[in-house]
Amino acid sequence: MGMFPCTYDRPHRFQGKASAIYSNLAHNGSTLGSKLRTCREHAAVAREFFESKMHLIAVGEQVLEEDIQTSIVCDVCETSGPTSGLFINMYPVGEEDRAYYADVCGTCAGSVVQKLHLTP
Ligand SMILES: [Zn+2]
Ligand SMILES: [Zn+2]
Repeated sequence: MGMFPCTYDRPHRFQGKASAIYSNLAHNGSTLGSKLRTCREHAAVAREFFESKMHLIAVGEQVLEEDIQTSIVCDVCETSGPTSGLFINMYPVGEEDRAYYADVCGTCAGSVVQKLHLTP
């Protein structure tokens, strides 16, 4: 076991196996993405958010662009308005891969971008 930086939210070092979180956000016609390695604790924090606010989808499932465009309610804060499609693939240590999808408003997209360090 080596030392890895956990990159969820505020980066810090930890010891032990890393879980992986791959994120994609379709936002205003462009795509932001990130690949994070997280400690066990932050994997649990991230997963709790995904489980409570996002839809569990089959790993590799595609959500159609039309579905993204027609959605007008944010899955996270339930505000009506334009939304962006957020996809998460999670690879928790010792557990099955999981995939999530949510429509997020601009405000929630901003906080997700910050926490998951999404970049173009
Ligand atoms: Zn951590
Ligand atoms: Zn929102």
